Amino acid sequence: MSTPPVDDADVPRYWQALGLPGLVDVHVHFLPERVQAKVWEYFGAAGTHYGAEWPVTYALPDEERLAILDRLGVRAFPTLPYPHKPGMAAWLNEWSAGFAAARPQVLQSATFYPEPEAAGYVAAALDGGARVFKVHVQVGSFDPRDPLLDDVWARLEKTGTPVVIHCGSGPLAGEHTGPEPVTGLLERYPRLQLVIAHLGMPEYREFLDLAVRYERVHLDTTMFATDFTERLMPFDRADLPRLSDLRAKVLLGSDFPSIPYAYAHQLEALHRLELGEEWLRAVLWGNGARLFGLEA
Ligand SMILES: [Zn+2]
Repeated sequence: MSTPPVDDADVPRYWQALGLPGLVDVHVHFLPERVQAKVWEYFGAAGTHYGAEWPVTYALPDEERLAILDRLGVRAFPTLPYPHKPGMAAWLNEWSAGFAAARPQVLQSATFYPEPEAAGYVAAALDGGARVFKVHVQVGSFDPRDPLLDDVWARLEKTGTPVVIHCGSGPLAGEHTGPEPVTGLLERYPRLQLVIAHLGMPEYREFLDLAVRYERVHLDTTMFATDFTERLMPFDRADLPRLSDLRAKVLLGSDFPSIPYAYAHQLEALHRLELGEEWLRAVLWGNGARLFGLEA
């Protein structure tokens, strides 16, 4: 068994030792500059929102962040935009399509909000090459079962396009966070290819249940098991065997760039779960490569 990376410069040594061609990270954000600045402003005041300081490690211009991901060996990643109000999603989708163009490592991303235009712009995004969607239940403050989204979910169930959904109640609870709304959504659309962000923290167990029950439900590791998260929302180690069994459904996610520690620490956090090299190979590369049809 190799040793975990000590810092970002050591990350390529780590995935090479595992015999991997690099990393697939399903939870990376690139946003229009003004939107990104607002998000960082929010994290800057994190003490008031989260009760914990949240210094953003990679608050750098786009090109520098792209270069960092390249040096880390992240071969594929999305940009995961998300709106906090109506009338914003279509514009975010257009921006995201532009960002992904001529950058083959970027998985073209899109989003939606419960509004009458949603089915139309989601169809347009799919036709325009979107490969992954993002939904943020707490920031958007909507019930994913909102009838205005019926046609959107039906379409995404049919296409099987992965949807990264932040639906757990951590780090902040919202009116519609927690397992219940998503459970109801899956009862109606059981073939949705959902990727539960942050492993559903802090409701890990209930979201593990959903990944067991529904064939296409995945979990991403974003911030999971890091020192930061373990202090705020610890994972019950009694559930580690279940996480091991779900090897084919767990995907590396990081939340780069807005993380309060180095990228390498996310890998170290997964490594020290001691679920074995096969598990790490599946999580860090294999599952994401399969989901997005990537070649080594
Ligand atoms: Zn995120």
